[in-house]
Amino acid sequence: MNRSESALKPALYTVPSQDGGGVPFLRGGRCACGHVFFPMQRHGCERCGGHGDTIEEALLPGHGTLVASARVKLHAGPERKAPFVVVSVKLDQGPVLRTLLEEDTDELLPIGQSMSACLVEVGRTGSGEPVVDLRFARSR
Ligand SMILES: [Zn+2]
Repeated sequence: MNRSESALKPALYTVPSQDGGGVPFLRGGRCACGHVFFPMQRHGCERCGGHGDTIEEALLPGHGTLVASARVKLHAGPERKAPFVVVSVKLDQGPVLRTLLEEDTDELLPIGQSMSACLVEVGRTGSGEPVVDLRFARSR
């Protein structure tokens, strides 16, 4: 049976087809001035102030480099179980985003490490279909 995954936050990233084995794209935006940002918004360009027709959606490949990481050992919120690793990744297209590392590790990750987006199962829908969310992993 062919199961379909659904994204926890479909406004933020794509779910590549399973047989494609692809890396998810991030749903960002591009301004006519050349500024690329994530996530997509239409409030206005942070660089030139342009809005409306100057801004269009841009699918940003989920590849980048590590700029910072921190392992969280104690977390106040009940929704996420520590330990886990928070990473800041600078996408090849420019924007920097803060996200979670796919795995928990106490290894010190080197700045500049090549990173790729991936989707991990975070739950199930009422009908048993997997629900996935975005993470980043070290590129292999
Ligand atoms: Zn602009």
